[in-house]
Amino acid sequence: MFALQGDVREHLQALTAAGAEAVTVRRPEELAEVDGLVLPGGESTTIVKLAKIFDLFDPLRDRIADGLPVYGSCAGMILLADRVDAGGSPLEATFGGIDITVRRNAFGRQVDSFEEDLAVEGVDGEPLRAVFIRAPWVQQVGPAAQAIGHVTGGEHAGRVVAVRQGNLLATSFHPELTGDARIHALFVALVREAG
Ligand code: GLN
Repeated sequence: MFALQGDVREHLQALTAAGAEAVTVRRPEELAEVDGLVLPGGESTTIVKLAKIFDLFDPLRDRIADGLPVYGSCAGMILLADRVDAGGSPLEATFGGIDITVRRNAFGRQVDSFEEDLAVEGVDGEPLRAVFIRAPWVQQVGPAAQAIGHVTGGEHAGRVVAVRQGNLLATSFHPELTGDARIHALFVALVREAG
């Protein structure tokens, strides 16, 4: 659990509910120890800045390139994207790894946050409650990545909001806020398969 900024406690609870042994990561030595990592929501610009200050930026880029399973939620999705759309708010760098272009704060200032039910490939059972907070969307999905979830209703219906590429998983929304640990369980299964 990348714990420089964001809603760390909620993710720790969801990971524990999904059967993982969850710890916080704030130092390079801690990053070296984990079998998987969650990048929480927060402010992507701040997380990048702090990651550089704490000497985590390059080590995490390297571990992602080596196949470390990582799940990014909201700001975490932005940080896993290979490209950030210039039409949204710019960002100096990302960790990258998923062949997508994201647009930050894409749903617009008027609609700061909203919720809806949607389906995610790999998550069985009833639809997931997805909570979007100043969320990005996926503007473009490159050939290496796979769209696994879309907005279902309203003017943004069809927008891609969940993606997967190998050991990397990302959602525009915040499953850690709903008490439904199925996305975290999907990620924990991915970590177990990779290990
Ligand atoms: N708007 C934030 C960003 O661009 C993400 C918001 C969130 O993580 N809830 O970094």
